[in-house]
Amino acid sequence: MLAAKSISASELMQAFVARTTAVEGRVHAFNSRDEVGALGLAAASDARRAAGQARGPLDGIPIGFKDVIAVEGQPLTASSKMLANFISPYDATVTTKLKAAGAIPWGRLNLDEFAMGSSTENSAFGATANPWDLTRVPGGSSGGSAAAVAAGEMPVALGSDTGGSIRQPAAFCGLVGLKPTYGLVSRYGLAAFASSLDQIGTLTRTVGDAAQLLQVVAGHDSRDSTSLSTVIPDYSAALQKKSRPWRIGVPKEFFGPGLDAEIGAAVQQALAFYRSAGAEIREVSLPLTAEYAIAVYYLIATAEASSNLARYDGIRYGHRTRVATGAISIYAQSRAEGFGEEVKRRIILGTHVLSSGYYDAYYLRAQKVRTLIRGEFMRVFQDCDVMLSPTTPTAAFKLGEKSSDPLAMYLNDIYTIGVNLAGLPGISLPCGFTAGGLPIGLQIIGQPFGEAEMLTIAHTYEQGHSWHTKYPNL
Ligand code: GLN
Repeated sequence: MLAAKSISASELMQAFVARTTAVEGRVHAFNSRDEVGALGLAAASDARRAAGQARGPLDGIPIGFKDVIAVEGQPLTASSKMLANFISPYDATVTTKLKAAGAIPWGRLNLDEFAMGSSTENSAFGATANPWDLTRVPGGSSGGSAAAVAAGEMPVALGSDTGGSIRQPAAFCGLVGLKPTYGLVSRYGLAAFASSLDQIGTLTRTVGDAAQLLQVVAGHDSRDSTSLSTVIPDYSAALQKKSRPWRIGVPKEFFGPGLDAEIGAAVQQALAFYRSAGAEIREVSLPLTAEYAIAVYYLIATAEASSNLARYDGIRYGHRTRVATGAISIYAQSRAEGFGEEVKRRIILGTHVLSSGYYDAYYLRAQKVRTLIRGEFMRVFQDCDVMLSPTTPTAAFKLGEKSSDPLAMYLNDIYTIGVNLAGLPGISLPCGFTAGGLPIGLQIIGQPFGEAEMLTIAHTYEQGHSWHTKYPNL
């Protein structure tokens, strides 16, 4: 509509501002937003288009940022008291790229504090509600990003995924959530949680939107030493390609006890769809992942988090206590006041597994098992193009249901975490609803840098179904 000039970027932005004003009181997806700034950028986009200088398909499109991705001059809180008053002094690389493409940063979106959680309840600024059922969680940690898109407050948003934090909220909110291969998208300007696992990705309504956003944000960045040089294909063009009959691996361990029957049935129907589209479906096995991925993740992720979060000491930036009496007590007291319970739990766990005497027993062994887990995925990929599974064992749970039981919360990531440990791309797309009207997510796991094929396979499913056209009744 922008390209056809049937709507202006200003009108579009005003429509999203109005929608946000109408529903945000119930959803609470935003930590903050700057309407005046966004409308100013929309006017600039209109001026470019009028001058024949539109910058491509994203020019004038509002986009939300999980509140861990830096946008210069805007708050970046990580949903933590620690950063409640922090303003980003620079843009993340993804932000620079999106701005250059003409996209309009629209708001800072809620998350579990420092991206630690699966429900967005671990936010210092209050939980976000699932637009499909306001008594339920939107998932996490990118729950604000997912809820905002699902509620129609913005068309697309960025999130980050360390163990499932894009795919799980996408599944809970009926969206497409894409977590790229580790190293495809720069992490420069992303507040670090677990640096060897963190990856920025997208929350969108359609696979086509995911492809367009990935096109802009992917690519090598000298400011992220783990960013890889690889040829970036034309993802949108790939969606139209009919490649050879796909070989789809189905990890049998991902259909065992704990999987909700309605979700299992929806995924089986998706498999039947692919079979009738000519794909070859093979049962495969990921025994190490099924048995050890969660344990390995909570050793490695907490170890890295304890190191990354050491920088928040109340000295250079962030929350500083008013009651300390000396240097050491400033550090200790500022951290005691600034961090929430889950973040503290992880810092303590991570510090423990890195400490002398435990390093070899926990951290080092977890690293070795991580290598075996990656090997297990890569062996399956010798005979398969992608793997397919449920994204989550259950649909969105009730607010408060798991908040007093960290282990139950951790187990919600059982199907997503292995993908991060192995550094692979994964996507969740809507594949149905429970009888109670909650969205169900289908996960497709791709080969390293296999985003184009993974997106094409996801797009083929989307073309044959209408789940992505449904909106919650807010
Ligand atoms: N839920 C997982 C955790 O709590 C994953 C979070 C994420 O991907 N950022 O660590």
